[in-house]
Formats: sequence, C-alpha cells, structure tokens
Amino acid sequence: MYLHMLGEYLRCRYGCKVYKLALQGVSTCPNRDGTVGSRGCIFCSDSGSGEFAAVGPDIPTQLARAKERVAAKVPPDARYIAYFQSFTNTYAPAERLEPLFTQALAPEDVVALSVATRPDCLGEDVLDLLEGLNRRKEVWVELGLQTIHPHTAQYIRRGYDLPVFEQAMEQLHRRGIAAVVHQIIGLPGETEEMIWSTADYIARSGAWGVKFHLLHVLRDTDLASEYAAGRVEPMTMETYFALLAGCVERMPREMVLHRLTGDGDKRTLLAPLWSADKKKVLNAMHRYFRQQDVTQGRRYGGA
Ligand code: SF4
Repeated sequence: MYLHMLGEYLRCRYGCKVYKLALQGVSTCPNRDGTVGSRGCIFCSDSGSGEFAAVGPDIPTQLARAKERVAAKVPPDARYIAYFQSFTNTYAPAERLEPLFTQALAPEDVVALSVATRPDCLGEDVLDLLEGLNRRKEVWVELGLQTIHPHTAQYIRRGYDLPVFEQAMEQLHRRGIAAVVHQIIGLPGETEEMIWSTADYIARSGAWGVKFHLLHVLRDTDLASEYAAGRVEPMTMETYFALLAGCVERMPREMVLHRLTGDGDKRTLLAPLWSADKKKVLNAMHRYFRQQDVTQGRRYGGA
C-alpha cells in the first residue's frame, strides 16, 4: 500500500504535526448572491460548505479561538495552516483580502495559507496578492471541480465550465501557486467510468493536491429535496471505498492526498448515515486499503 498523505508531507517539510485552523473570510459566493446563481451548488449548506470555522470579529481573534479548540491535542511545537474554507474566499477585491490573509499568516507558528475558492473568482489582483504571499509562506488554492462531466456540473449547478477551471489552473501554475482540486464521488447519474475519468483528468491537471469527498446529503439543501424525491441513492461504504481506491490509484505518486472522505456536519447529515462515524469510517478505509494493497500511482496515465 502506498498513499502520499498531507500529514506525511507536512511532517517531512516542517518536522512536526501541523494543524488546520478554519477561519472565516469572505462569507458569500457568486453562486449564491445572484451573480452566477442564487441557490448555490445543490449540495451546499447555508454555511457555504464549511461547517467548522472559528467565529470572531477579526482574524487574530478567530486564530486564537481556533487554537483554543485544538489546544488539548496539540503538542507545544505544533505548527498551523490558516484555512479559509467556507464560501468563496477570493470573491472580493485584493484590497479587502490582503489584510485577512496577511493577518492569518502573521504568527510565526502559521506556516501555510489555504484558500478555498472558485476558478471564476481569481482575478489578476487576487492572483498578484496570492503570488506575493506565496513568496513568504506556502499558499494553496483549493478549487471545487467535483466532476468534469457537463451534465453533472449543470445538475449540481456548479456555475462554471471546464475551460474556466483550465484557465485558472494555468494561471496558478504560471505563478507557482499550488492548486488543490476537489472531486465528489457519488454524484447522481455518474457511473464508475465517469468518476474515474474525472480522477484521470485531475491527475493530469497539474494539481499539487487532491481532496476526495463522499457526496453528503445535508438538511435544508436542494440535494435533500432530490433525496426525498428518491432521485439520489446514497452510496454504501464498500462502494465508496472501491471507487475511492480506483481514484487514488489514478493519481501520480507525488500528488498530495489532502482528504479521502468528506467532513459533513453530523447535526444536519441525512445520508449516508454511516459516514457520521468518522473514526470508524477511517479505520475501515485503512483496513480496506491495506487488504487491497491500494497503491497511489499504479493506474496513473492509464497504466
Ligand atoms: S461554490 Fe462553494 S460556497 Fe458557492 S454554492 Fe458552490 S459549494 Fe457553496
């Protein structure tokens, strides 16, 4: 079995455990405020697909509160990643983003900045800002591609086409900024081949890292209505592991695996309910991966 996980990358690079501190940056998204769409992606919750951010009037307060949350399990020499997860964190002019990102990166023990956004929200000013910050500390830009298939992209109301993603990837690459691409496994109507072709595409996209998510049905989302109408079939754990293993093996060996399953809010999770017990799922997944000798890179490039 071989997996190039984020934890291992961070341990090698910084020589210690590195924890994420989820912060609140821009709290809207063009796919919600009417610019691109008004109802958001079909699976997205009111919190903008980020349930765990620290709350506070400014970034230093949020950093302090986020650190407090993990204090019990964190060793004294730990380092941190400032993580802007929810909504679209580059959906604002660079002048507004600059103080947020700069303050987040200011403490010595914060070693990296991770910014989740959309590929249609990376203007030149924002890219200039990220490129400048990236010269000081690591900056990662996370893009929720989810699928390469136009019909599914339309169904989930992603709100941008593949060429927009490709252009953003090229810009990030040109500026030396690491991209982390997200794929959702289990989107309605997608076959095994479709899931794997998205994985093959991500593998060749120039991404530095990848996050795989199990499709979660969360309360009060449009996906929940689809689920209630019987148009969404939740995946079993065994099917998810098999599809995930196929995706992981399609990634190049050096691609950093940031996540192997989603992290939905248990309080609003409707399906699949087995995913609520994260510890149990991760244990079962590692057992499955060991038994199957899942090896990242084995099927890269159609091998
Ligand atoms: S782009 Fe992100 S924040 Fe916006 S609706 Fe989609 S998942 Fe939610």
